[in-house]
Amino acid sequence: MDYEGQICRPPVERSSFMLPVAVGCSYNRCRFCTLFKHLSYRLLPLDKIESELERVRNLGGNPKQVFLGDGNAFAMDTERLLRILAMVQQFFPDCTMVNLDATVLDVSRKTDEELRQLAAVGLRRLYLGIESGLPDVLVFMEKDHRLEEAEREIDRLQKAGLVYCAHFMTGIAGRGRGEENAEQLAAFFNRTRPERVINFSLFLNRKAPLFENILNGTFQPADEVENLMEAYRLIELIETDLHYDGFHDALSFRIWGRLPRDRDKLLWRLNEKIDEYSKKETCYAFDVHVESVIDYNAHLTGS
Ligand code: SF4
Repeated sequence: MDYEGQICRPPVERSSFMLPVAVGCSYNRCRFCTLFKHLSYRLLPLDKIESELERVRNLGGNPKQVFLGDGNAFAMDTERLLRILAMVQQFFPDCTMVNLDATVLDVSRKTDEELRQLAAVGLRRLYLGIESGLPDVLVFMEKDHRLEEAEREIDRLQKAGLVYCAHFMTGIAGRGRGEENAEQLAAFFNRTRPERVINFSLFLNRKAPLFENILNGTFQPADEVENLMEAYRLIELIETDLHYDGFHDALSFRIWGRLPRDRDKLLWRLNEKIDEYSKKETCYAFDVHVESVIDYNAHLTGS
C-alpha cells in the first residue's frame, strides 16, 4: 500500500507492522506540527485495508504487533475500528496487540463500553500527544485538550484496560520556561502513570504555523541547552515507573531508559551533553537555512 504523509512512530513501534487505515490527522491544528498539514484527512476504504493484510499474509507475514496509521487513527468510529481489529486477527492470528496514536478529544468521543470493547479485541497502547504540563502553552499551541480533560480521559481508558503512553516536547513552552514546564509535566505524569513517555524535543519546520510566531516575536524559542536542561529536570522529578525515550534531533542525540531505575545514568548522560553544548555556539532546532538562525541569534542579542 502506498503511504501518504510523513512516518512518525514511537520508537517501540518500529518493529510493528504499520497498517495505514486513514490519511492525515482529523484535527491538524497544533501550531508546531507539519506532519499532515498538506493532506486532507480521510479514512481508507476497508477493502483496501483488507487487500493490504492479505498481501502481507500471502508473503508469509504474521506480525505480533500492528500499528494503525495515521495521525490519530483513534478518531474513526468504533464500529469501523472493531471491523479493522477483526480483520487484523483474521489475517495475523499471532498478533498480540494493536496500537495507535490518539488525541484526548478522540478518547472523549468514545463511551466506556466502547473503550472496553476495543480493549477486549486486542487494542492496547494509545499514544496521546500531551506535549506540555502548562495550561497556557496548550492553549497557545492549539492543542485539542486541557490538562484536566486529559487526566479524565486517561483515567477512563486505563479503567477500560487500555494502556496510555505520552508524547511530549521539551522546548514547547519557549525560552525561559523549560524548568516550569518540566515540573508541571512531571507532576502530570506522576499522577497519570503512562507506560512510556516519548520526548520529540521541539524541532521547528519553517512551514509550521509556530514559525510565524517566532518571526513576529510572539514565541521565543528555547535553545538546545535549555531543552536538555528541561529534560534533566523532568527526569529528576519522575517518580512513577515508566520508560523514557528522548530525541533531540538537532543534536543527533537520543537518550532512553527505565525510570526511576536508570535515573542516575540518564542524568549523567544529559549532564555531559549540557556541558558539551554550553561551550559551543548557541543552537536552535530550526529547519531553516543557517543564515536565518544566525539572524535570529542577532535578533535575540540585539546585535
Ligand atoms: S494531533 Fe498530532 S498529528 Fe494532529 S496536528 Fe496535532 S500533533 Fe499533528
